[in-house]
Amino acid sequence: MLKEGTLKDKVAIVTGGGTGLGKVIAHELSRLGAKVVVASRKMENLETVVKEIKEKGGDALAVTVDVREPLQVEDMVKKTKEKFGAVHILINNAAGNFICPTVNLSYNGWNAVVGIVLNGTFYCTKAVCQDMINQNYGRIVNIIATYAWHGAPGVVHSAAAKAGVLALTQSLAVEWAPFNIRVNAIAPGVIYTEGASKQLFPTKEVQDMLIKQIPGKKMGKPEDIAWATAYLVSDYSDFVNGECMTVDGGTWLGKGILAE
Ligand code: NAP
Repeated sequence: MLKEGTLKDKVAIVTGGGTGLGKVIAHELSRLGAKVVVASRKMENLETVVKEIKEKGGDALAVTVDVREPLQVEDMVKKTKEKFGAVHILINNAAGNFICPTVNLSYNGWNAVVGIVLNGTFYCTKAVCQDMINQNYGRIVNIIATYAWHGAPGVVHSAAAKAGVLALTQSLAVEWAPFNIRVNAIAPGVIYTEGASKQLFPTKEVQDMLIKQIPGKKMGKPEDIAWATAYLVSDYSDFVNGECMTVDGGTWLGKGILAE
């Protein structure tokens, strides 16, 4: 774990910060000294995180936003600056997903997921970039998934959107490096969260099947992603840019001759 104070005086926005990975990321950035804005649609979840952070001595703000709506995203950034004066760190973590054979996938279903994941990531990034350029400092981490590389039958909407976010990450990392803005991604493997479990691995049978594919035979925990995120926004990763850190226990490498 990084030292407390590593992110002192930094202001971070975490989309989807009211639940799952985003919530744990928000807590970790706060522990390291950042002021944190948690943003998503459900105020109740966000307020809980803010309360928890404040009880631990940190400072945080809850902002409702639907990241598919550019004006709401701009308002989120405005509220962040009104409260904390600047935005130094953006964690694009909000997502939606559901399993659906592509032949049954509706246009609405496709648009909802691509709208949150790809458009939402772009809108949030666009809304902070001019300030980051002006202040000559920015750290952006996009939470994607390992199937951004190899696709994912049954969640083509999410796979296509995450692949787009990976391309966005690599493009902007180079475009904005002269302004001391680093853009990186994290590809989590199977991490137990209520949201992911409900949408993607709702039964014990599916969970057991997934665990069998993980070399260490265990799911990851949200802290694994929060620690990786903290590293990527800290100065310890000063020369890491346009990279995607896979945090999946080695699952994406496959099992080769050991495959069952
Ligand atoms: P989660 O708890 O369901 O998180 C998704 C978050 O996105 C929620 O907080 C939700 O909050 C927010 N969100 C959804 N639609 C939104 C919208 N239109 N505008 C703003 N916020 C919105 O699931 P999670 O497991 O923590 O997932 C977090 C990230 O990790 C996602 O990017 C996911 O794709 C990625 N990931 C997770 C796993 C895993 O195994 N857990 C694996 C690979 C990748 P509201 O409902 O309040 O809007």
